[in-house]
This record gives sequence, C-alpha cells and structure tokens, in this order.
Amino acid sequence: MNNRLNHAPCGFLSFNHEGTIVEVNQTFLQWLGYEQANVLNKHIETLLSIPNKLIFHSYFYPNINLHKHVEELFISLKHQDGRSIPCLMNAKLSIANGIEQIDCIFMQMKKRIDYEQELRLAKKQIETAYFEKEQALAKLEQLHIAIEQKQEELLQMNASLVELSMTDKLTGLKNRRFFQERLAEQFQLFNTHAQLFSLCILDIDYFKKVNDVFGHQIGDDVLVQLAQLLQQHVRLQDIPIRYGGEEFIVILPNTNIAEAKALAEHFRQAVEIAQWPTGQTLTISIGVATVMTTDDENTLLKNADDALYTSKEHGRNRVTHYQG
Ligand code: GH3
Ligand code: MG
Ligand code: MG
Repeated sequence: MNNRLNHAPCGFLSFNHEGTIVEVNQTFLQWLGYEQANVLNKHIETLLSIPNKLIFHSYFYPNINLHKHVEELFISLKHQDGRSIPCLMNAKLSIANGIEQIDCIFMQMKKRIDYEQELRLAKKQIETAYFEKEQALAKLEQLHIAIEQKQEELLQMNASLVELSMTDKLTGLKNRRFFQERLAEQFQLFNTHAQLFSLCILDIDYFKKVNDVFGHQIGDDVLVQLAQLLQQHVRLQDIPIRYGGEEFIVILPNTNIAEAKALAEHFRQAVEIAQWPTGQTLTISIGVATVMTTDDENTLLKNADDALYTSKEHGRNRVTHYQG
C-alpha cells in the first residue's frame, strides 16, 4: 500500500467477497488499537458488534451488491480494548486483477457525536431553564394575587378600624369624631348650596340621680335605650350621635327652624312617654340651633348648647331654639 494512503487521515481497509480483510492502513489500526496481524485475514464482522452485524446483513451487503457502493453508513467498530468507536463509512466495489474486493474508508465520528451530545445537553438545559422560568412566573403570579388579597384585607381592616374609631362602644351610635366630620360636610353644603341645617343637643335631666339611686349599670341601660329610641324617631337623613356622657346630638340636614323645633319636641315627648329600666319617668332637655350665615362649627354648637342651658334653666323637659 502506498505510504500516503497508509497514513491518510481516514481509516482504510479492503475485504474480499468472502468478507476476509485483505488490506488495512495504519490510520485504521491506530484508531482501533490493533496490529496488522490482528486484522489482516480476519473476517470484517470480527470488528463489528452484534447490532452492527445486523446492519451489515440487512443494509450493507444488499446495497453493495445492487449499487456497487454504499455511502455514509453510520457504524460502530470494536476497539481492541472493547470500546465502541463510532464511524462514518463509505464503501465501493472494485475489481483489481480480475478479483472483486470492497474498499472502505472510515471517518471517526467521535467529535461530531460529542458535539451532538453537547447540543442535546444544551437544548435540555434550555428546556429546563424555560420550564423553571414558567414555574417561577406562575409562582410570581400567585404571590401577586396573595399580595393583592392581603392589601384588600388591609384596606378592609383599616375601613373597619376607622368605623370602630367613630363608633360609641356602649350605645353603638356614632361618636364625636364622626359628628365633627358630618358637621363639616353640612357647613360645606350650606356655604356652597345655601342648604340649611339644624342641630339638637339632648341632655338627660337629673341623670346623676339615676346612677346614684339605681346604680351605674341601670344608668348604662338607660343610655342604651335612649340611643335606640333616638334611632327609632329620627328621619332617614338625620344623624344621631352620642356626644359624650348623657349628652346626645342629632344633626338635622336640610331642616329649618320650625322643622327642627318640631322634631326636637317629638324626641322630647317620645322620651317622656317611654318605659325606662328605672320604672320612673325620664325626661330630656333639648337645645336647638339652626345655621346662620355668620356661623361656624364652634358658634353653631355653642348656640345649641346655650339653648340647652336655657331649657335647663327654665325647668328642664323642654325644647329651646336659640334666639340670636
Ligand atoms: P342635669 O339635669 O343638669 O343635666 O343633671 P345631670 O345629673 O344629668 O347632670 P350631670 O352632668 O351633673 O350628671 C351627668 C351624669 O352622667 C354624671 C355621670 O356620672 C353620668 N354619666 C356620664 N357618662 C355615663 C355613662 O357612660 N354611664 C353612666 N351610667 N353614667 C354616665
Ligand atoms: Mg350633661
Ligand atoms: Mg344631664
């Protein structure tokens, strides 16, 4: 064999029609770790594993007989140490000196297979990364939903805290804080739309005696019942407040002097005829004031309070409208 073919950068061997290897180059021997004596005169199939033998029988022999050549057959050869060496094989039927033989060249596929494996691995890593990204996004989405829920809960909690801070514990009526806000609203309406409104301040007559004679608990019961009575007798738009102690205020929106006086009188009578836990008659004194252009929140409240004082002065259980 010529020296260049012997050391060419591809494996080369020839075998005859019986499959006996008759020529082999140095490159092939070196790749597979054999000496010439291990290969020459051996059957080609001694270099093949069982699955590769099957490929030879089912694909190689029929094709070489039919087409006289086989191209790019992927096959694994057995290394002397037992390893499998993947190769790409081209074969051609040739006739030398009237004798048919099959010339084969082999290219090692190891690098390409390594590349393919790396490529597969990289693809798998990308798939895994995408999957993890999707999972992370789904988790993020869940967290967003949870945060939104928490924020909603917080808003509700804040709203109920505000509600609580504006509610009187004993009677369940709105308290002085709530009153200040509603009063400011009424002034706003009065100043922008000239919408009149009035205030009633109600104070239980001789309430100290109730506590002294019947005890603080009965006193509390009376306050609760009075709150309920007020709620029953106010109109839909009216705003009853426990202002403090045994003093109550009712804001009367859109209400002039005459209407305010009538409503106050109605409350007074309702209290007077009601049954109380003391078993005795209970009365209230009322001061009424209707907003005037010169008023602000303090003066209006003071006017109502002055009117209440007048009611007390004049013997209690009565209604007085402030006369400016
Ligand atoms: P007047 O007719 O002048 O209004 O006399 P009064 O006794 O009602 O007035 P005073 O302001 O002297 O007494 C009010 C009493 O109300 C004193 C206080 O102990 C009582 N009081 C205030 N808040 C409460 C409460 O929440 N529960 C009870 N049971 N009593 C209260
Ligand atoms: Mg009082
Ligand atoms: Mg009182």
